[in-house]
Amino acid sequence: MNKYLNQLVKLSEINREIDAFEPRIQKIEKSISVAFEKAKNANDSIELLEDEIKDSKLKRMKNEALLAELSEKLKSIGKKSASIKSEKEVKALQLEEELAKEHCSFANEEIARLEKIIELKEGEKVKAKELHLELQKAAEELNATIEEEREAIKEDMQAAYAKKNEIVNAMSPKILSFYEKIRKWAHNSAVVPVRKQACYGCFMRINDKTNALVAASEDIITCPHCGRILYRDTTEVA
Ligand SMILES: [Zn+2]
Repeated sequence: MNKYLNQLVKLSEINREIDAFEPRIQKIEKSISVAFEKAKNANDSIELLEDEIKDSKLKRMKNEALLAELSEKLKSIGKKSASIKSEKEVKALQLEEELAKEHCSFANEEIARLEKIIELKEGEKVKAKELHLELQKAAEELNATIEEEREAIKEDMQAAYAKKNEIVNAMSPKILSFYEKIRKWAHNSAVVPVRKQACYGCFMRINDKTNALVAASEDIITCPHCGRILYRDTTEVA
């Protein structure tokens, strides 16, 4: 193969390699942020449960205060009942007593209901804490593993850039700028193989003359349709 063409093929390969690093980095960073997000969500659910428990405890306290109030009231009704005589007063007091007792039983029912909620939420909180710990640990472990991968990518990138510099330094500036011009629009398909007599950039069939020139590999040939640099694909089975 022509020396310059060979350099162009190699440069194109290394540029493709370099461009592939970014999605690799993004993929690992994404997996890390997903893992920490999961742990954070688990922590949020703990906070939510804590709020619910706090709310139920406050309601229970209010009902307990109400019970204490009602018990005082019942005591005072008991005292009053000893001193009154008229049937009308007795009846009124009985009514008051019944009402207070009814409120007492309501408050007791409410306290029992709230205690069940508190117990249930406390149980959920224990589980949520376990889950949070698990997820946090998993995220941290993943982060440590990924740290190694990050380092490996960094090394690969440095090696790729060194290789690219080596190729670029050996190239003629004229050919390099010709390639860069095509690369501006064709990006990583500026240098493409010919397969089955078709340009692998625009996928159009090339004429026999161009195909023969590409096959000879003696010159830098561009696709007559799209202008990309063409080379003979040696991996293609003839
Ligand atoms: Zn083409």
